[in-house]
Amino acid sequence: MAKRSHTQRNSCRPYGQWPVPHTPAWFAQMLPFHPPAVFFAQTHIARTGRLDICSVCGDTPAPIYDAVNAPHQSLRLCADCLGIRAALYDERYRLRPERA
Ligand SMILES: [Zn+2]
Repeated sequence: MAKRSHTQRNSCRPYGQWPVPHTPAWFAQMLPFHPPAVFFAQTHIARTGRLDICSVCGDTPAPIYDAVNAPHQSLRLCADCLGIRAALYDERYRLRPERA
């Protein structure tokens, strides 16, 4: 399998502009480009009945992260998945502050 290449096209967007993960806008944006991510998130949402879960594994807590150098525009990530994605794929994310 070829080494994953990460697009930089989202890196210059203003902070916090991407849809909140697991909202209809997020699913609409993710589906054409990252169908597996949509599948995993929908599976975990259906299993747990929660939207504030890790997009990858369904664990909590899972704050919102915006891509710095990663193909997914925004994700909810638990600490384990954040570390795994950094170690395996060299993906970097920025924590999005929770809005009151
Ligand atoms: Zn996770």
